[in-house]
Amino acid sequence: MCGIFGIYGHDEASNIAYLGLHALQHRGQESAGIVTAEGSKLHRQVAMGLVSERFGKDTLAALPGRAAIGHVRYSTAGSSELRNAQPFLFEYAHGGLAIAHNGNLVNAHEIRTRLERAGSIFQTSSDTEVIVHLIAQQHEPELLDRLAAALRQVTGAYSLLLLAEGKLIAVRDPHGFRPLVMGRLRDSYVFASETSCFDLIEAEYIREIEPGEVVVADRVAVRSHRPFAPAPARFCVFEHVYFARPDSVLNGKSVYRARERMGRQLAIEHPADADVVVAVPDSGVPAAMGYSQQSGIPLEMGLLRSHYVGRTFIEPQDSIRHFGVRLKLSPVRSVVDGKRLVVIDDSLVRGTTSRKIVTMLRNAGASEVHLRISAPPTTHPCFYGIDTPTREELIASAHTTEEIRSYIGCDSLGYLSHDGMLAAAGAAPAASGESGLCSACFTGAYPVPVGAQAAAPVPLRRLTAPRS
Ligand code: AMP
Repeated sequence: MCGIFGIYGHDEASNIAYLGLHALQHRGQESAGIVTAEGSKLHRQVAMGLVSERFGKDTLAALPGRAAIGHVRYSTAGSSELRNAQPFLFEYAHGGLAIAHNGNLVNAHEIRTRLERAGSIFQTSSDTEVIVHLIAQQHEPELLDRLAAALRQVTGAYSLLLLAEGKLIAVRDPHGFRPLVMGRLRDSYVFASETSCFDLIEAEYIREIEPGEVVVADRVAVRSHRPFAPAPARFCVFEHVYFARPDSVLNGKSVYRARERMGRQLAIEHPADADVVVAVPDSGVPAAMGYSQQSGIPLEMGLLRSHYVGRTFIEPQDSIRHFGVRLKLSPVRSVVDGKRLVVIDDSLVRGTTSRKIVTMLRNAGASEVHLRISAPPTTHPCFYGIDTPTREELIASAHTTEEIRSYIGCDSLGYLSHDGMLAAAGAAPAASGESGLCSACFTGAYPVPVGAQAAAPVPLRRLTAPRS
């Protein structure tokens, strides 16, 4: 869960990268970084924290050059510390090479162990560094060939941007797990995790980088290459459910409209006898709108979100996360008092947030709380770049919907069906038997093998109250 941005051929490359990262900030708030290329010389600035807090006039002035790549991070592999902040910049036999990665490599540990045994010294604890070591080991004269040979050895999810030898290179893994789009800003090319940043920088959207495609921009042209064996597309459905910004268009679909369709379908599958629809802001809002439109129950702002705290879940430390829920959301008594509510959230992971929300709404006078989730039960961890807890911590991995309802303390609980979610996210017609999407976190059907451990059943256990 990171955001990447790149621009090639612009006099203000670092300033544009700053803006681009700002519009991708929801994808990661732990660290931010930009590398620029001034001819073959690369300049790097990285910092822990938000782009707007850590990048100012001086930092940007220290980033000259007409090409830039940038990264916003939160850790799914490797710890949250400055040495893991991307883009990485390394010097090797062919000069400087910078890399920014969104995704998660499944076999990084295995490769790293092998390389370390052979004498490699790693400078970070991130899976991305493995790619750099593999590139450095190749003997082909062309960078593109070295890169392709390195990437053929890794499995898992990677959308990458690289700067080296005067080129900007954009790569999407053969399954296309994570998004990567391409646009044009006057004479320059831009690349980003999401289209949300194109509106801000006034770039024109061109197209997605296709799964398995490598696009190289240099002084001469922008060229597309296909160095990998074809594989079935597996775009992450959770980008549409929760992660991406609703103003983005991903995998050819508006994220906002996909969420709205999920809400409509949820109302069909799980109607509720209620007075008011309440969204858990912000990510639950489009689905709540869809639910309200379909059911005819009015949508009101029964919960307010404070914009002065980050996404609570995203903080790596458990203690901060639990405290954060109360900091983040507050009930609007005049909306909920004496009302039967149908509360819409996009996903239920550990159940701790929902439990607190239900208590909060009851304390504010709600007479009934019916919880509706615009995704199926999250039963399996993601190994392709979304930060999910271990299988043991996923409440739906070992509990029935009724057990979860009772733990959360709501009057009824309904999840969107798997088929309903896929259809709303724009999956290929069911008849083709090929959705084009990865929904492993809801099914355990991992498109790239992740090891037996991951899919093993979790023994049923007693639900205990979470720490408050
Ligand atoms: P939980 O208390 O674990 O059930 O948290 C569920 C809430 O976390 C929902 O409101 C989601 O919007 C949000 N959420 C779900 N998945 C993630 C994730 N991977 N990172 C951050 N927030 C998430």
